[in-house]
Amino acid sequence: MTERLYYDDSYTHSFTATITETLTHDGHTAVVLERTYFYPTGGGQPHDTGTIGGVRVLDVFTRPEDKAVVHVLDGEAAGEVSCEIDWARRFDHMQQHTGQHILTQAFVQTAGTSTVGFHLSENSVTIDLDAEALTPEQIATAESLANQIVYKDRRVTTRLIDPEAAEGVRMRRVPEALATNGLRVVEVEDFDSTACGGTHVARTGQIGAIKVVGLERYKGGQRIEFRCGWRALHDYDLRIGVTGQLTSALTCGLVDLPAAVERLQNTNRDRERTIKTLQERLIEYEAVDLLANAQERDGARWIIAAFDDRDAAALRWLAGRLVQEPGVIVLLGIGGEKTHVICARSAELTQDMNAMLQTALAPFGGRGGGKPAQAQGGGEGASRDQVQAALEAAAG
Ligand SMILES: [Zn+2]
Repeated sequence: MTERLYYDDSYTHSFTATITETLTHDGHTAVVLERTYFYPTGGGQPHDTGTIGGVRVLDVFTRPEDKAVVHVLDGEAAGEVSCEIDWARRFDHMQQHTGQHILTQAFVQTAGTSTVGFHLSENSVTIDLDAEALTPEQIATAESLANQIVYKDRRVTTRLIDPEAAEGVRMRRVPEALATNGLRVVEVEDFDSTACGGTHVARTGQIGAIKVVGLERYKGGQRIEFRCGWRALHDYDLRIGVTGQLTSALTCGLVDLPAAVERLQNTNRDRERTIKTLQERLIEYEAVDLLANAQERDGARWIIAAFDDRDAAALRWLAGRLVQEPGVIVLLGIGGEKTHVICARSAELTQDMNAMLQTALAPFGGRGGGKPAQAQGGGEGASRDQVQAALEAAAG
């Protein structure tokens, strides 16, 4: 069994050790050290990275059979090696992990809810609480207590106890990564005792701020997303960047942003209403013009027109307006990156608009359909003139 030095000292990140076993894991060389400070994935905390003998460490895990710590390498290493742990990553894990112990206990004391899950990754830190619902006030109260414990700069210590004497120690689950002869208990002075095999800061002041940033329902409970220390600061940077862009774009202060956005939404709604009214009036003028220039044939007025600056909805609207008049057949189209065609007739006529649509779309490999009185569809891109020619051919 590898001696796990990080149990007693989570701050050493530069050391030398002897390789006692070399193996292959997923096509990579992997080594077991006589003793290691590298943390293997477990207990919700990701493994450390860094170098062993100058070679990058890709993964660190506990071998289930003998609890040996296996370091997967991006190359070869042998003998006595100098080892370097990526300290920024490790310290970040220590901040998040110790912060989690405190936040979990804060929710126990202020909301009477237990933590049933913990997840820590590069982009996210969450705890899952067995609460059906939590109010913003409950979250604020727990968060406030957690930060009070941070500012009191309490000591964080670990000790081994007899598993039989574990009564009174909070245990989320039996820590699977825990390879010791006793139960390892992590204590936040006068606040929390938890069985845990992870790496923690020595004093709560080193956690920095503990900030809840999100809440969502999860598997019948509540998932709390939070950030500690540097992560909280980086999250703050991100939010300042985003809100700064918004306050500058809307020329207002931070607290005025919601009102400014609401004003913008109201203005937008008013304008949409105005545009709709204007479009209706415009279509009325256009319809009168198109009807005046319709071709009389077979007892009907034919209107055949292709455009290149319309959308399909506006075209449908125009066609609908035109066939309100008696004895009208309309074949309208749009050219451009995609073609669109609509064929419609007044209700009392008998021509099959579906058949006309198929003929009009044929040159563009198009698809579409509808009813005998009105059909529409689209096809590959074509110019306005090509669409006009196809519509005239379909009209026969
Ligand atoms: Zn822990």
